[in-house]
Amino acid sequence: MQACNYIQGQWKRASGQKAFEQRNPANLAEVTGQYADSSREDTLEAIAAAHAAFGPWRAKSTFERQTILKRALQLIIDRRDQIATVITKENGKTLAESKGEIDSAIKEMDFQIAEGMRMLGKTVPVEIGGTLAYSTREPRGAVGVIAPWNFPFNVPVRKCVPALMAGNTVVFKPASLTPGVGIVLTQALHDAGIPAGVFNCATGSGRNVGSVIVGDPRIKAISFTGSTPVGKGIQKLAAENLTPCQLELGGKNPSIVLDDADLDLAVAAIARAAYACAGQWCTSTSRVIATKGIAPALIARLTAEVAKIRVGDGMDPSTGMGPVCGTEQKRIILDYIEKGVAEGARLHPGMEVPQEDSGKNCYLKPVLFTEVTPRMTIAQEEIFGPVLSVMTVDTFEEAMALANDVPFGLASSIFTRSLGHALTFMEKTDVGLAHVNIMSSYKEPQLEFGGVKESGAGLPEAGTSGIHFFTEHKVCYVKYR
Ligand code: NAP
Ligand code: MG
Repeated sequence: MQACNYIQGQWKRASGQKAFEQRNPANLAEVTGQYADSSREDTLEAIAAAHAAFGPWRAKSTFERQTILKRALQLIIDRRDQIATVITKENGKTLAESKGEIDSAIKEMDFQIAEGMRMLGKTVPVEIGGTLAYSTREPRGAVGVIAPWNFPFNVPVRKCVPALMAGNTVVFKPASLTPGVGIVLTQALHDAGIPAGVFNCATGSGRNVGSVIVGDPRIKAISFTGSTPVGKGIQKLAAENLTPCQLELGGKNPSIVLDDADLDLAVAAIARAAYACAGQWCTSTSRVIATKGIAPALIARLTAEVAKIRVGDGMDPSTGMGPVCGTEQKRIILDYIEKGVAEGARLHPGMEVPQEDSGKNCYLKPVLFTEVTPRMTIAQEEIFGPVLSVMTVDTFEEAMALANDVPFGLASSIFTRSLGHALTFMEKTDVGLAHVNIMSSYKEPQLEFGGVKESGAGLPEAGTSGIHFFTEHKVCYVKYR
């Protein structure tokens, strides 16, 4: 079956019937679907539809918008198993991980629907008499949502739901590796009765869809999750029209383990944050910085954990880690592993450099590097795969300096029983999401999510800033006497 774009409430093929196919990373012989390869014109049509639908959608009451989105939420809950299969077949993560992603999306959606009912402004006393002064938040207009493939369901939900609740209309571009997941989200909104033009989905390339959305003056805000270089390009292009951007970008997330850490806790949290979803969380732990008293035991325990991970098809319930998402990602990760070895890091005993196989699938063995030094490529660049690098230091101060010594600033953790070290870490860690004795990836929807330094720009997602980003302020002075 060929999936279509969703524009002005209609499922439409791309102009010239152009399509691209998507394959299952666990079995590249299996085509998972054909998707619209949209042209610039198709994208412009989606933008025009969102632009035209803005007036009537903003005029609806928040209660009406809430009713439609609650219906979509219920459909997502009802379709959890079906959506999870689509995620696993396109992204490769295990079925349990796909269900976990949907459960997170359900919580985010529930929170943002409620948050959209409280578009809080303020009233303040003013100097001139007989005057009511207050501020309100208003929707921005048609907005663009450009999503990644690693959380192909949760990330779009986290962006689109606050945008829609606040009264904006949306043009959504799923990642080209996971278009089918974008379509199932779109289907839920369609089935919930979202009015024509309020939500539009166009699949296709970053060039013909993504940058056309970003460069169009009718688009009043861009929410993007993806790589840092693409995010920088988006911010530049959006600057032409002064379009505000919310950029959630890459990471190189450290976990510090001090000598006084609870080793069981640290090992479990790090193994999960490093290898779940084959290390393709933007908040995955990719660097462990351990003080020398605990490093040998930590490395031994992590090596044992890695050896237990069973790599296989995510549809098989006994699989611990699915394939990485696509042949290009696999090649990039293999290049990093080779670079790690070439630059002198030690691939931990019992692990060999994974070999490129016959090209039938995208499986990779999880990898643990030790004897990593701070200037090695694998210690500095985002790998976005199941590769963990361990560095050993003498002191907490040294660990802290190394943790911050990367261009990124998304997430971090420390494992320690020392209150002083924990709170000093919290004060000094240059990230948007910091943890003590919890894995670097942990988050809840009530609080903001976003990075600093090269990991993000603009207001973060989720929490109260989820809606805030998609609204603009208006300050009102009313002289009534
Ligand atoms: P990417 O290349 O930046 O792609 C992300 C999205 O942007 C895709 O939909 C992509 O479309 C689109 N795109 C590509 N070029 C574009 C352009 N010139 N203009 C507009 N849109 C464009 O990212 P990726 O390499 O696929 O994804 C992995 C990266 O995402 C990692 O760096 C990871 O850390 C980051 N990430 C960050 C977070 C976070 O919240 N901080 C969450 C998840 C992932 P196509 O798919 O069609 O190319
Ligand atoms: Mg890309």
